[in-house]
Amino acid sequence: MSDPRAGHLVLVTTPIGNARDITLRALDLLREATVLVAEDTRSLRRLMDMHGVAVGGRPLLAYHDHSGPRMRDKVLDHLAAGALVVYASEAGTPLIADPGYDLVQVARAAGHGVTAAPGPSAAVTALSLAGLPTDRFFFEGFLPSAKGARRKVLQSLTAVPGTLIFYESPKRLEKSLSDMAEILGPARAAVIARELTKRFEEIRSAALGDLVQLVVEAPPKGEIVVLVGPAAAAEISPEDITEMLTEALASQSAKDAVAQVSAATGAPRRQVYKEALAILGKS
Ligand code: SAM
Repeated sequence: MSDPRAGHLVLVTTPIGNARDITLRALDLLREATVLVAEDTRSLRRLMDMHGVAVGGRPLLAYHDHSGPRMRDKVLDHLAAGALVVYASEAGTPLIADPGYDLVQVARAAGHGVTAAPGPSAAVTALSLAGLPTDRFFFEGFLPSAKGARRKVLQSLTAVPGTLIFYESPKRLEKSLSDMAEILGPARAAVIARELTKRFEEIRSAALGDLVQLVVEAPPKGEIVVLVGPAAAAEISPEDITEMLTEALASQSAKDAVAQVSAATGAPRRQVYKEALAILGKS
């Protein structure tokens, strides 16, 4: 009897640090796949070696942001020929701040079965460890590295009524946190979740404004997730509101500044407007 998984694409999640976080099902699939596709073929080979699974003579194809339509067509050809295609990211859940979205889309559109062997993702692992509200959350992934674009994205997040989750590099962390403190509010509860599941795993929690200071004093290394609690959960002092408003008024109209600070702090618009008038000397 033919394998019912023939012509299927399976997204296999790999560990985010601790190699033993691979699932039994992921190992079965890596063993049984007839075609292996990986964002980074070397790391998949290393992971398989570690668990005693040989690549053997099976095709092992590289699929990443720059592989383009040619590689996508190649994977589709394998699926059409009845292959069991396993696709793995370098670490964690495929497609989460990683390539593969287009592959899933075209494979399903071509009538192939697409399924997943789930496992860890840094975003969810960090969320469960952070001690911030988990009932609603918003995954932003990596912020743009250009300052203007980064601040624009942050401004669009001020009113999100849930915990915000960002992926960040140690190099850009200080700049991103400073912008977050300025735009989202220095009093918002925040967490840096670093090196999850690895030897130097660390969770640092503080108000956003204080976290910037901590990072300046002891810059963290390794892989990092930043989480920011929802505005409503933060305790915002009148001084925080005045500080945020003064900064917002320096670059925006009074109307926009009031809307931004009110959304970021959860403070009533009327109260923020009164404070804006006071700052502008119009009261
Ligand atoms: N697909 C992955 C997932 O499911 O989490 C994410 C891939 S993304 C290209 C890599 C980023 O995820 C890192 O720069 C870091 O921000 C975060 N990350 C991955 N592993 C991590 C870990 N062990 N601890 C903290 N952050 C991690």
